[in-house]
Amino acid sequence: MKRFEVDENGFYGRFGGAYVPDKLRPCIEELQNAYLRIMDTEGFKRDYDRLLRHYVGRPSPLYLAERLSDKYGCRIYLKREDLNHTGAHKINNAIGQALIARSMGKRRIIAETGAGQHGVATATVCALMGMECRVYMGRVDVERQQANVRKMEMLGAEVVAVDSGGATLKGAVDAAVDAWCDAPSDSYYLIGSAVGPHPYPDMVARLQSVISEEITRQLMESEGRDYPDYLIACIGGGSNASGTIYHYLDREETRIVLAEAGGMGAGSGRSAATLTVGREGLLHGSRTLVMQDDSGNVIEPYSISAGLDYPGIGPLFAHIAEQGRAVTYAVTDDEALRAAMELTRLEGIIPALESSHALAVLGKVPFGRENVVVLTVSGRGDKDMDTYIKSLPSGESSEGTHNCM
Ligand SMILES: *Cc1c(COP(=O)(O)O)cnc(C)c1O
Repeated sequence: MKRFEVDENGFYGRFGGAYVPDKLRPCIEELQNAYLRIMDTEGFKRDYDRLLRHYVGRPSPLYLAERLSDKYGCRIYLKREDLNHTGAHKINNAIGQALIARSMGKRRIIAETGAGQHGVATATVCALMGMECRVYMGRVDVERQQANVRKMEMLGAEVVAVDSGGATLKGAVDAAVDAWCDAPSDSYYLIGSAVGPHPYPDMVARLQSVISEEITRQLMESEGRDYPDYLIACIGGGSNASGTIYHYLDREETRIVLAEAGGMGAGSGRSAATLTVGREGLLHGSRTLVMQDDSGNVIEPYSISAGLDYPGIGPLFAHIAEQGRAVTYAVTDDEALRAAMELTRLEGIIPALESSHALAVLGKVPFGRENVVVLTVSGRGDKDMDTYIKSLPSGESSEGTHNCM
């Protein structure tokens, strides 16, 4: 029995659904009626598989990190989404949705982006497929993420700076939704995480489920069994996490551990720890947990990692956290920074700040020697070098660089 699958109305338990303005209803219904049918066609499967293999570089390795395993007293495998083209898992979803859009006869892609990672993935895929691309981005983010803005422009996308809604991600989402409402009927809204109205959370989870499908096969090869004792992933909206757990949701022998952004501390008022401090509400078209004040105003989230800096969470995760199917840790900025340094010095892998939140959980779970742990490294750290360099403890950036940890 599948306990955690979405129902026909887009609900996971009481979370999810499709709460959209009337003028968007036809667009959402068109997509609801099309996505499963398209994803089931031979043409889609062939194109998706070919691009994942030869363009993205899949399957991504499942790497047994021996020095990290020694440190934590268990067998830790890293699922290397950081090695994908464009540097993270987001490309899996962008390619899949662009193929779906093309099958629906759409030629223009609308997207929003916070730090610019999803914007770059989308602009990349639009260049690849010869589609028009417009990306909405808060003006504050445009200014602090210049490198990604330049990449998007070089790839041929139009980047629109948004001043409303704090001039960050939330304002960008609102602007993108508005644009979708008013756009010609050959426009498609490409969402970057497992959030938004049905069918986006389910569609994104299915597209990212290539991650857990590969884990199943790769573990069989290396461990002689197809499941781990623990799965660990960081969670902003939930796309890399949903892909990591997809094939294991109904397999209780595998424990699911989520790492969300604790910022300065989950209780500090400066975090993006939605599963820890959020309350039920509506955000971006779905019923889910939302960081909000007593009058229901969305609280501006905070995290050192732009990719986790979101005041909501995918409805699947609101549901499985409530059901006890997943355990959540709120990881602080400092813990994530230390974990990034540790992976770098033990394994020679510089992880994205988002992924570092998942790594920080390793010190919090009481593993047994024989436990097999799979942790998804959702992206690489190139984009975070400025933050890492600024936050290195003084001394470590000069004299101390030769010390091991
Ligand atoms: C965007 C991003 C995330 C967070 O998004 P999810 O949808 O929760 O996966 C995590 N890691 C990296 C590297 C990202 O770019």
